[in-house]
Formats: sequence, C-alpha cells, structure tokens
Amino acid sequence: MGEMTFDSFVIPVKMGIQSSIKDNLFPIFCVDCGREGETWCENCRRQFDVAGILFCPVCSLQADNGKTHSTCARANWHLDGLVSLVPYRDNSPLTRLIKQLKYHFVSDNADWMADILRIWLAFNSERVKFIFNNRIIVPVPLHRRRLRERGFNQAELIAEALRLVLSERGIEDNVSTKLERSRYTSAQARLHEEAREKNMLSAFKWPDQEVCPRAVVLVDDVYTTGATMNMAAGALKAVGAQSVWGFTLLRG
Ligand SMILES: [Zn+2]
Ligand SMILES: [Zn+2]
Repeated sequence: MGEMTFDSFVIPVKMGIQSSIKDNLFPIFCVDCGREGETWCENCRRQFDVAGILFCPVCSLQADNGKTHSTCARANWHLDGLVSLVPYRDNSPLTRLIKQLKYHFVSDNADWMADILRIWLAFNSERVKFIFNNRIIVPVPLHRRRLRERGFNQAELIAEALRLVLSERGIEDNVSTKLERSRYTSAQARLHEEAREKNMLSAFKWPDQEVCPRAVVLVDDVYTTGATMNMAAGALKAVGAQSVWGFTLLRG
C-alpha cells in the first residue's frame, strides 16, 4: 500500500520535469492559433471540419462510401475505393502538420492524429464499420533510403492511429508493415505503356514467404493522382488480395 502511494507520487513528478525541460528547449506552438503548448491545440482541433470525403478515386465525383464507380474501374485500376478526411489545402492546419511531419522530422507530438480521426469517426461511424471491418491496415511503405533519411514512415503513424481509434469502436483490425517498396519509380516517361505498368507494379512487393491478406486498407498521408496507391493495390492483388481500399488524411 505504501509502495503504491510512493509510485503514484513519483511518476507524475518525474514526467512533469521531463516535459517541462523539453518544452523549454523546444517550445511547441499550435499550428493553427499559434498559442504555445501543443502542436495543434484541442480548441483548434474541435473547430476543424472533418466530415470526410467519399468520392470515387478515379473521377472524384460522389460515390457510395467512396467506392470506385464500376464505370471508372478500367483495366489496370486496382483500388476499390477511397476514404479521405479533408481536401488538400495549402494553408489548412492538417496540411501544415503533415508537412512538418515529413520535412522537419517531427514525429513526436502526433497525438493530434488519433484525435482528429476520432472526430471524423464520430461523423462516419456506421459507414466506416461497413468499409473497414475485418481488414488488415497496410501503410504505404517508404523506400529504405527515404526511411533512413526520415527515421520513420508517416503512413505508419497514421495506420497506427487508425488502428487505435477503430479498436475504440470495436473494429479490431491489425496493422501489417510487410509490404515493401522495392525501388524508386524513375524514368517512367521513357517507358512504353505496358512496360510502365510493369515497372509500377514492381515498385511494391509483398514478401514471397508471407500470405497476403484478402482485405486491405492501404494508408497514406495524401492522395493526389492515385498512382502510388493504385500500384501498391496492384501489387497486393497480384499476390491474392481481393479487396483493397485506400485511406488518406488529405485528398488533392
Ligand atoms: Zn490552436
Ligand atoms: Zn468514378
């Protein structure tokens, strides 16, 4: 009993000292209102509109739960649907936070991520259940060289946050980081269309010795042309995935 009191007294004090030293060395300011203390303060997060985007990933028009229209699913299109949180806007707090994450190597203080996903889930709970139940969450991998430079994969952080908030809603999806990026896709322009398609598909690889999950949610920070996500989906389907949906925070 005495020991418990001791522990519960010591731990908060220790944490308090550590975090105050850290805040003094690297003060954190809210990306939105500029107030000191949090990367994105709770007050600003609450005011952020995260209704979610459910558009066809090919034509960007309204679609059922973000499912690819059957008329849009041409040959070599592998992504079955896409869910994104907000449109890409240069000055939106979410865009700036992701840039901070990717280019300034700020991987801590990413608590905002799970929180913003919670707000979005509150709007979309039923839909999301339908889309994300019984899937394996797979972050779009970085090339090894890029991963070394950055020290972490931002898509993995998002995948982990997504897993956490889904589990809070009773959806117990696991994260798998088995997908590999085999090489940079360069010099695409010089290749003929067929060769280009081959080149794109071989940019990602699921390890031969591993069984590929049948139903996958591919996670990335931003969806623009869809080329990357589509080639990752293609690589998964080539080794047995039946259904691959995309999930991104931003949509260009
Ligand atoms: Zn703020
Ligand atoms: Zn469409």
